[in-house]
Amino acid sequence: MGSTLIHGATVLSVDAENAVFEGGFVAIRDGRISGVGSKADTPNPSGFDEVLDLTGHLVMPGLVNAHTHSVMVLFRGRSEGQSLLTMEGWYNSIREPELSLVSSDIGPAVALSCAEMALSGTTTFCDQYFFAEEIADAVKQAGLRSVIAYGIVQLGDERRGEEELAKATDFLERQRSADGRVIPWFGPHAPYVDNTEALLVDEVAVANKYGVGLHLHMACGPEDNAETMARYGTTAAVALETLGLFNGRIHAAHCIDLSDEDIAVFARAPHASVSYNASAGLRSGREGICPAVALRAAGVTVALGTDNVAANNSYDMVSEMRVAGLVASHREGVAQPLTSRDLIRMATIEGAKALGLEHEIGSIEVGKAADIVAFDLSGPGYSETPDPETLLVYSGSGRDLRHLWVSGEQLVKDRQLTRKPYDTIRREYAATYRDFWDRVAAAKQTNNTKVA
Ligand SMILES: [Zn+2]
Repeated sequence: MGSTLIHGATVLSVDAENAVFEGGFVAIRDGRISGVGSKADTPNPSGFDEVLDLTGHLVMPGLVNAHTHSVMVLFRGRSEGQSLLTMEGWYNSIREPELSLVSSDIGPAVALSCAEMALSGTTTFCDQYFFAEEIADAVKQAGLRSVIAYGIVQLGDERRGEEELAKATDFLERQRSADGRVIPWFGPHAPYVDNTEALLVDEVAVANKYGVGLHLHMACGPEDNAETMARYGTTAAVALETLGLFNGRIHAAHCIDLSDEDIAVFARAPHASVSYNASAGLRSGREGICPAVALRAAGVTVALGTDNVAANNSYDMVSEMRVAGLVASHREGVAQPLTSRDLIRMATIEGAKALGLEHEIGSIEVGKAADIVAFDLSGPGYSETPDPETLLVYSGSGRDLRHLWVSGEQLVKDRQLTRKPYDTIRREYAATYRDFWDRVAAAKQTNNTKVA
């Protein structure tokens, strides 16, 4: 794979000491980070295949989007005025068109999502949906790193639940990619909405057997707890702990409505984490805001996610850091209870930890995979400052991403995708988008005719 020397940049290592190197260097050999440090320690360029002077750039670990549904780019702008964090909002805007999805829609949609993520600095994402097989195939072609949770939807049908679990198990067996970039997980869409207790217990057993995590939606609003409160007098988190879901790795999205007891459940679990999806939460109109500060104070790993782009509607994790910071300040009533440094850690190393990948990615440290991004700071908004972290979070944009590497492979070079041109991806997506929505319209017509 060769070797690359990046030098002259402001390097945020995001290591345990949060070391920042002005004019520093990063060395990459055979896909791994072989050196990082200050200007004075920059190695001799003659020993490298490629040398990049990135003066005027911010170089940091690739961003980790801890919760999304990449296929749902097809629904962008189709849920306006609906709360996607309620059953009703999902039912009104997503459920019916979703029934018209076919497997050939998935590749072009996921390719566009991966392109948007890569071009704004995301190297790893956590996805959840049905059509997991097709998603995994498309992500492998894009080259990003991802955890793909096979979404198990039961909808009150016991046999369907068993069949889905068998398919999900098969997915775990086969989809781990040889290069380690695609990591299969699974997860109930939302517990107690569509998975029975017995199925949840079986899911935990399979996840533990394969050593994978469960990714699910949790506490998206007060009604999420209504069913368990009625049945057991406890919240969903407490009920899921009793069923054993917190024994292995569990990564929960949203967590808007957590009690102190729920936070304690997360804190005492060995590998429990939360994806705080601030933009999606705000747009949903739900009253609560994820208690990210209290969770972190209790020792819980809190990552950041965009959620799907019908809910958000952007994959820009720089913007997501900013919104997460703003909302936390508003919620706590104090100035920046999450510092820019905290937000950068949440979007990198904490995201890696949530996915069980903290030994592989999430910081620029010798031995880790070279998942690295470079933002160009020459444009407006990036004037001189003693604080490069705040510069990126509060003045920056994912649109200023210039270079991106995953495992040392440069997937974005000078703002262009290297594996497949963005224009081609966009053209193929546009054709799929038209086909899909034509199919949705035709299905609606047929249903209306039947009713009439
Ligand atoms: Zn979601």
